[in-house]
Amino acid sequence: MMAIADQGSLEGLTGSIPSTMQAAVYRGANDVRLENVPVPEIGPGELLIRVHTCGVCGTDLKKIATGSHSAPRIFGHEMSGIVAAMGEGVRQFKLGDRVVVFHHIPCGNCFYCQHKTFAQCETYKKVGCTAGFEPSGGGFAEYVRVMDWIVRRGTILIPEGVSFEEACFVEPVNTCIKGIERLQPSAGETVLVIGQGPIGILLGSLAKRVGARVITSDLYEQRLTISKDLGLENSIDASRTDVIRAVRILTENRGADAAILAVGGNGLIQVALDAVRPGGRVLLFAQTVRGEAIVDPAAICVDEKTLLGSYSASVDLQEASVNFVMGREMNLERLISHRFPLSQSLEALDLAAHPRTDSMKIVIQPGSSWPTPKEAHQ
Ligand SMILES: [Zn+2]
Ligand SMILES: [Zn+2]
Repeated sequence: MMAIADQGSLEGLTGSIPSTMQAAVYRGANDVRLENVPVPEIGPGELLIRVHTCGVCGTDLKKIATGSHSAPRIFGHEMSGIVAAMGEGVRQFKLGDRVVVFHHIPCGNCFYCQHKTFAQCETYKKVGCTAGFEPSGGGFAEYVRVMDWIVRRGTILIPEGVSFEEACFVEPVNTCIKGIERLQPSAGETVLVIGQGPIGILLGSLAKRVGARVITSDLYEQRLTISKDLGLENSIDASRTDVIRAVRILTENRGADAAILAVGGNGLIQVALDAVRPGGRVLLFAQTVRGEAIVDPAAICVDEKTLLGSYSASVDLQEASVNFVMGREMNLERLISHRFPLSQSLEALDLAAHPRTDSMKIVIQPGSSWPTPKEAHQ
């Protein structure tokens, strides 16, 4: 079933596929172990990807911390790598191709797909990538099996000049484009982005791209330094300055037209509402944990402010996010603060779950032990 490589752009990396591999296996709530597991087998129409880089996502951390999913599983879905083996009938790729892989793709034909409610599509609900066990992404492993519908519609070639690290941002960028489409900032509007982690910086950059004036805030100076480097100059150091007052000063005392909450914590919802003008909008982007929050109902009724939410990615925006990432519209590598080899993936997950002031995007890189392409050709 497996086609074995004999050539390819990263020749030497696809040559012989071992029978076992290292993987970070989720065994239950707060229990992830580094284990040796079988390399997944592939069938007709499928691909085996050798993972180079996989981003650690907040949703992975949430699943691990809460034990919300049955064990065992191998998580990780923001992944890039190379085609290491191809099942029968795969024509559109060749061994050694550098690719980025989505883990959810709808069928495109069913009732729900025709009505553009892709998240309800039965195919979409299935995870199409696995490193073994119940399909769950599988990027925290050396090799991933990509199922046929993902090969057909959710596997994208990485153009020359774009790194594996940059390519990993296709999914997170998609979620941010979706959030911005929901908020609809227009040119000339002032948008406050609270929280300048990697997602806050992406959201700010995308709002700026549509012509909005972006104000950012964060408690950590290190983050504001990076966001300024990436072009978001109007920043408020929330550790020293009152954000609401500072925003008013910048907006003729009205407040921002819109605010985005790119940091968790329900206490900030009212802060965001107070920071926007009457009739303004607040987008909740990081409030993924169910609970209760205190908001002033008159801010919604009397002041006519709107609370919006956005979650996860949209297939409709796949092309836009691929174009943004592959077109290198921003320096995405600057958003990565820590890179861990797969052997240290437990440390990576721990740091991501307990961020430090200098933590931004954290990636796990099975590919850090690969020879460079140059070496591979020698
Ligand atoms: Zn993600
Ligand atoms: Zn469908």
